[in-house]
Amino acid sequence: MKIMDDELFFPNINRREDYLVKTTGEYYSDYSRYRTQISEDCGERCVYCDVLLEEIGYEGMVLDHFRPQKLFPDLKSNPENLVLSCPKCNSLKSDHWPEDCGVDDTFVGNVGFVDPFIDSKNDFFIVDENGVFIPKQPPSPYMEKLLSVNRVSRKLVRKKRILSEVIRRHYDDIIEDNDLSQQKLDAGIMAVGDFIEKAKRNQEKLKLIRTLME
Ligand SMILES: [Zn+2]
Repeated sequence: MKIMDDELFFPNINRREDYLVKTTGEYYSDYSRYRTQISEDCGERCVYCDVLLEEIGYEGMVLDHFRPQKLFPDLKSNPENLVLSCPKCNSLKSDHWPEDCGVDDTFVGNVGFVDPFIDSKNDFFIVDENGVFIPKQPPSPYMEKLLSVNRVSRKLVRKKRILSEVIRRHYDDIIEDNDLSQQKLDAGIMAVGDFIEKAKRNQEKLKLIRTLME
C-alpha cells in the first residue's frame, strides 16, 4: 500500500483572484478582514509546518506577512502577501528575510523561504514516512532550521496524519472488497486494531508533550 502521496502534506494551494476590496477598489487597511479568505486559500493549514487547523483544535492560527511588515510596509494590508501560520512558526519567522532580495524573489542563495503559493514544493522538500521534513535544496535547510519545522510536536502531528491515512485506506480496502473471506476479514481487523493501538500511543505522546510545553 502506497501511503504517501502529494496531497497528504504541503499540497498545492492557490490564491483566489478576488480578495475583498472596498467600494473604491482598494484593499481594507484592517487586514484581519482577510482571515477567512486566507485561511481557505491556505487549505486551513500553517504554510510553514503544515499543521492543520483541526490538528491544533481550531485555535490560534495567525495571519503572517510573508514579506515582513517591517521591511515591506506597503504590503501590510495586501492580502496577496498574507499567509496562514501557526503562532510558533509566525514568531520564529519574525522579520527574517534575505538581504539584497529583489521584490519578486523570496530567497537568495541559501537564505529565504519557498513561496507556498508559487514554488513547486516537491522540488524543494519532502515529508518522509515518519513525518520528517526532508530538505532537498535551498532554501529548505534554512527554513527547517529557522522555523524548527521538525520540532517534536510537529513530527508527531504529521505521523498521526499518516496513521489516520493508513487506517482509512485499510478500512476502504476492506469495505470495497467484494471477494471477502473470513481470513481476509480477520487480517483486516488485526491490521486496523494494530494501527489504532499505535495511533493511541501517538496521541498519548502528543498529550505528554503538550503537558510538558505548558
Ligand atoms: Zn507552523
